[in-house]
Amino acid sequence: MWHEDTLTVLQEKHRYDKKLYDVINAMNEAKSFDGIFNLYNEILMLVDAERMSMYVLDYDKKELYTRVPAHIDVVGEIRLPLNENSIAGYVALTHKSVNLVNAYNQEEVARISPSLVFDGSWDKKTGFRTRQLLTVPILHGESVVGVFQLLNKKHGKRFTEEDEENANLIVKPLGIAFLNHILLSQKQRTKFGYLLAQNKITQEELNAAITEARKSKIDTESILMDRYKIAKADLGASLSAFYNCPFIEFDPARILPCDLIKTLKLDYLHKNFWIPIQHEGDTVVVLMDDPYALHKCDIVKDLLPHLKVQYAVGIRADILCYIASSASQTPNKDPIGDIIGVLKTEEVEEKEDDATTRVNENDSTVTRLANQIIIDAYKQRASDIHIEPYGVRADTVIRFRIDGSCVEYQKIPSMYRRPLIGRLKIMAKLNIAERRLPQDGKIRFRLQDREVELRVSIMPTARGDEDMVLRVLASSEPVPIEQLGLNERNLKELKNIVEKPYGLILCVGPTGSGKTTTLHSVLGYINKPDKKIWTAEDPVEITQRGLRQVQVQPKIGLTFAAALRGFLRLDPDVIMVGEMRDQETAAISVEASITGHLVLSTLHTNSSVETVIRLLDMDLDPFTFADAMLGILAQRLVKKICQECKEPYHPSRDQYDELARNYGEEGFEKLGVPYNEAFVLYRGKGCAVCNYTGYRGRIGIHELLLTSDRIKRLIQSKGRSAELLIQGKEEGLTTLVQDGTLKILNGITDIKQVQAVAIR
Ligand SMILES: [Zn+2]
Repeated sequence: MWHEDTLTVLQEKHRYDKKLYDVINAMNEAKSFDGIFNLYNEILMLVDAERMSMYVLDYDKKELYTRVPAHIDVVGEIRLPLNENSIAGYVALTHKSVNLVNAYNQEEVARISPSLVFDGSWDKKTGFRTRQLLTVPILHGESVVGVFQLLNKKHGKRFTEEDEENANLIVKPLGIAFLNHILLSQKQRTKFGYLLAQNKITQEELNAAITEARKSKIDTESILMDRYKIAKADLGASLSAFYNCPFIEFDPARILPCDLIKTLKLDYLHKNFWIPIQHEGDTVVVLMDDPYALHKCDIVKDLLPHLKVQYAVGIRADILCYIASSASQTPNKDPIGDIIGVLKTEEVEEKEDDATTRVNENDSTVTRLANQIIIDAYKQRASDIHIEPYGVRADTVIRFRIDGSCVEYQKIPSMYRRPLIGRLKIMAKLNIAERRLPQDGKIRFRLQDREVELRVSIMPTARGDEDMVLRVLASSEPVPIEQLGLNERNLKELKNIVEKPYGLILCVGPTGSGKTTTLHSVLGYINKPDKKIWTAEDPVEITQRGLRQVQVQPKIGLTFAAALRGFLRLDPDVIMVGEMRDQETAAISVEASITGHLVLSTLHTNSSVETVIRLLDMDLDPFTFADAMLGILAQRLVKKICQECKEPYHPSRDQYDELARNYGEEGFEKLGVPYNEAFVLYRGKGCAVCNYTGYRGRIGIHELLLTSDRIKRLIQSKGRSAELLIQGKEEGLTTLVQDGTLKILNGITDIKQVQAVAIR
C-alpha cells in the first residue's frame, strides 16, 4: 500500500503548503505590526511547538519587542534590550540560531556564550514552563529585522533540523513583512507616507505636488489624483493610516443626519471642511479633511454638545459633496423628519378642531410622506416596506427589511394611517374604497436617475385597519460570480459546469436565499456575444444587457411553462426559468437540457440531495434526469460580521464542541483546528457603521452537488438521499453547515447566523 501512504504524505504536504501560502499572504496584507502579531495562531499551526514569539527590532530604541495577542496571554508587550544577555538578543546580534534542549540548564546555555542567561521571569509571570527553545534570526538580506522563537516541542524531546528548516520557511516572508512595516512606520509619519512606502509616488513627485498645491491654492489630495493619477482608494488608505481613523468617500446613497446638520450653518461647514455624516444614539461620526486640527475638533465639540464624536477623514471635494447633498436633503426636499414634524403639528390642530378626518390622501403632506418613505427605503437598501397601523390610539409603525431583518424606520400619528395607505393605493392603481379584502398592485416610482418598481400587497387587519407591505424591486446589476462567497472548490466547479453547452443546473433554497442573484451572476459570467440567452422571470429584478428577459404573467396565461415552450422556438443557447414551480415546467426544462440547451432554474428545496428526490417525485424519468443534471447548488444567506468592529475572542469548549458536532466530528478533526488557548473565533462588537448590530452585509453559504458517474447511477436507481449525500461528500461536497462552519472559522460570520439558516 505504499502508494496510498505517498498520497497521504503528499496531501499532508499540500495542506501544509496551502496554509503556509495563506499565512504569507496574510502577513503581506497585514496593515500593521499588530496585524502580523495577530497571526499568532495561524503561524503556530505551521510549527511543531506549544508556543512561539516573534520579535521585531526597534532600531531607534535598540530593543527587540513583541506584542502578545490578548487571547494568548495577559502579558501584552514584551521589550528586550539588544545585547548578548538574552537569548533573543544574542541571536539578533550574532545572526546565529540557538537550539536548546532545556532552557533552564545553565551549563547548556553557557556553552553557547559564557555571559548568556535564560530569563525565566516571563515564565513566572505567565505560569508557562519553557523547556526546549529554538531561536532563529529574522533576516532581510544582511541585516537582522527580528527574532523568531519556538517554545517546547510538541512531538519529541528536542527541536530538530527539520524544525529549523520549517522555521526558516516562515522567517523569510516574515522578514519581508517586518521590513515593510519598519519602512512604513518611518515614512508614515506624514500624510502621504503610505503612498511613498507603497511606491505609488516618488518623494520628488510628492514635493512637486505639494509646491503646486500651495501655489494654486488647491489641496494636495486633488493634485495627487488629477495630475499624478493616484487612485482615491490609495489616497484614502494613506490618510486613514496617518489619521488612524476610517476614510469615507462620497456616496450619494448615504442618508445624512439632517436633524443634526440643520442646527449647523452650511456656510461654516463649507469653509471648514467638516460635516456630521452619521448619528446613532449618543455617537456622531464627523467627516473632516484634517482630524488632527485641534482647533477644529474643539469647535466640533462645542457645536455638538452631549455627543460622543468619532472622526473619519475625507478629501475636501467629497466633504463638499456631502454638504451640498445635505442642502438638497434638508427642508425644501422633505426629509422624513420634517414631514413627520408637520404631521405632528397638524395633528394637534386637528384635535383642537375636533374634526375626524379632515386630512385625506390628496393632502400634500401625505403625498410627500409617501414619496419620502419610498426614497428612504431605496437609499437604505431595504427590500420591503411594512406599514403597520395599531388603531386610532397608537402610532402607526413603518418598518424596513434590510439585509434580511426588519428595523423600525418611523412612527407616524395614527390619523395619517388611512390617508397614507389611500395615497399608496392610488399610486398602485388600486381600489381606494375597498378596505375589507386583500389587494395586490404595483407602483412605478421615478427617482432622479432610475425607476424603482414596488409590488404592493394589502391585507385587512384587526380594528378595521389595513396593513401594507411594499416589496422594492430596484432594477440592479448582476453581482460578479467571484463575489458570491463561493469557496474555492465550489467556484471552480460551478464555473466549469456553466460553461458546458447543455445540461440542467439548479439553484435551490427557501425564499430570500439569494437564488435569483446567483443565477444572474452565472448568466453574467457566460453572457457573451456568441450566446443567445432567454430568461423568464417573476419579477425581472436584475437586468443585464445581452439577455432577452421576459416577465411571466400567469393571469394572462404567460406561465413559466408557456414561456419555456416559446423559447425553444427562438433559437436559444441558454435558458433561465425563474422557478420550476410545477411538473410541466420541470419536464420541459429537462427535455430542453438534453436537446442541446443549457437550462438554469431554481427550486424551493432545502438541500441539493433533497432536490433530486423532489424532482424524481415529480415523475421525471430518472434516466433522462440523470443525463440532464449537471449540478445542484443549495444556498442560504448569512449576515457578515461588521469589518469595522470585528474582534477575535476565545470561545468556550462547549462552543467549540458545538462547531465540531455541526460540522461532523470526524471531518472537523481533519481541518486541523484543535481546541487550545490559541483557538479564536470572531464577533462584531457593534459600532456606528453597523448600527451597533455587529453585522453588515450578507454572504452566501453553499452546497454544490455535481453529477458524477456514481451520482448518476444513484439517481437512475432512485437511491436514497442519505446515499447521495455520502457519495457527494466522498467527491468533495461540503454541506451548507460545513461551508458555514468554515466561514465561521475564517471570521466571516458567526455560529448564530449559520445555525439560524442551516441547522434544523
Ligand atoms: Zn460594526
